[in-house]
Amino acid sequence: MSTTQTSKIEIRKATSSKISGVDFQNLSFGAVFTDHLFECDFKNGEWQTPVIKPYAPILMDPSSKVFHYGQAIFEGMKAYKDDNNDVWLFRPDENFKRFNNSATRMAMPEVPEAIFMDGLNELLKIDQEWIQKGNGSSMYIRPFMIATGAGVVANPSDEYKFMILLSPAQSYYAGEVKVIIAEHYSRAANGGIGAAKAAGNYAAQFYPTNLANKDGFQQVIWTDDATHTKLEEAGTMNVFFRINDTLLTAPVSERILDGITRKSLIAMAEKEGLNVDVRPVIVSELVEAAKNGSLKEIFGAGTAAVISVIKGFSYQDVYYEMAPAEDSYAALLKEKLTSLQNKLSEDTFGWTVKVQ
Ligand SMILES: *Cc1c(COP(=O)(O)O)cnc(C)c1O
Repeated sequence: MSTTQTSKIEIRKATSSKISGVDFQNLSFGAVFTDHLFECDFKNGEWQTPVIKPYAPILMDPSSKVFHYGQAIFEGMKAYKDDNNDVWLFRPDENFKRFNNSATRMAMPEVPEAIFMDGLNELLKIDQEWIQKGNGSSMYIRPFMIATGAGVVANPSDEYKFMILLSPAQSYYAGEVKVIIAEHYSRAANGGIGAAKAAGNYAAQFYPTNLANKDGFQQVIWTDDATHTKLEEAGTMNVFFRINDTLLTAPVSERILDGITRKSLIAMAEKEGLNVDVRPVIVSELVEAAKNGSLKEIFGAGTAAVISVIKGFSYQDVYYEMAPAEDSYAALLKEKLTSLQNKLSEDTFGWTVKVQ
């Protein structure tokens, strides 16, 4: 292991690379990680010297607050490689801002922009060989922060660890997704943490999602906790509906995560001249549209899968399925967005940022 110091990041390179053992044609999502990770600890009220070091397990005190009180947040973003071997991020400022909004909501310290962005850039440069070219190929980036302070007294930790992991990803097809509309369980509530990318939001979804799986549905469409009448998110993705030729999605709120894919798709759809209506979408109108044939498409939107097509939904034990859409908006928007992200088309929005 060689130790060098570039700018403020301490860099400890791995002595050998795992890359030759990776089958890039058959990657399962989030299962393979690159040779290095980025790490920066928060102690005594300040961020310490950041380090890039070989990917390895970490040692923690069993009483660390993350294990007991769940102070844990994360982000999901991607980097792409173009034909000139340049590496690009997609709207990284949005992930950075959202990360610190999540930190504030969970009583965690904000990560300085220089630590987040320089750490990410350096790590991507060091492991850039791991980034594959081509539409759909990317490097999935997982920044996260956990409470590492010891002691089981229930108050916010005074020590934290911020890390960034890199996991090579292919475009993936989730298969034919059928969903169930939540009538009892909720993902988020007003005043809660639904708008934060907090680990606990995911833990809370697993049980109701398992119940849906047992009934043959892959995901749950979450509804508002107070009335269960407003359609809010699909699993861990924002959700879009196409009724006739209008694309509908709920406005973001305390219960709905402000997805970067969601807002990019809205901007793209508007630019394509599609009719987009951001307003609460009601379960009864969805059922009605499914019955009269005006419901053309439902899809989830998020960084990992970009767009995940939903072919049918169940509500009050009745299953409604749509005919495969002609001139699918999901297919059009996915192709437009992924080719922009992969630098295969011109980025007229100025969303892509070069790693340098
Ligand atoms: C991360 C996430 C999304 C999607 O956000 P993107 O920025 O598009 O990746 C949507 N809903 C939930 C609950 C999420 O955690």
